[in-house]
Amino acid sequence: MSSARPGTAGATRTCPHCKTVILESASVCPACRGHLRYDEAALERAKTTVSPLHVEGTISPPVGDSTYEYSMVLSIRNERGEEITRQVIGVGALHPDEQRTFTLQVEMTEASGAKARRRH
Ligand SMILES: [Zn+2]
Repeated sequence: MSSARPGTAGATRTCPHCKTVILESASVCPACRGHLRYDEAALERAKTTVSPLHVEGTISPPVGDSTYEYSMVLSIRNERGEEITRQVIGVGALHPDEQRTFTLQVEMTEASGAKARRRH
């Protein structure tokens, strides 16, 4: 996994609320939704946020009396197809009358220029 230097695009830090590794530039933690900063630069950056990928699906076990177990696996690959992250997000059991909905969302925020190009 690549690690960017502090102050550069892709630099990370640990959320003080939930300890998840998040972007250094984040104004709201995407994991626990805790607010981290309110400065003007962060607010300007938030305006550039787009959500280019959002996938959601609901599953239930095949018809029958059996209970199934599931694993949700997330992987991120680069432009060469090399896996840079692979994580098991959650595991559990699904009884015949149960279902689970899985949501994947990718947010992108402009990494540079927002601070330099402040309006007004
Ligand atoms: Zn958090």
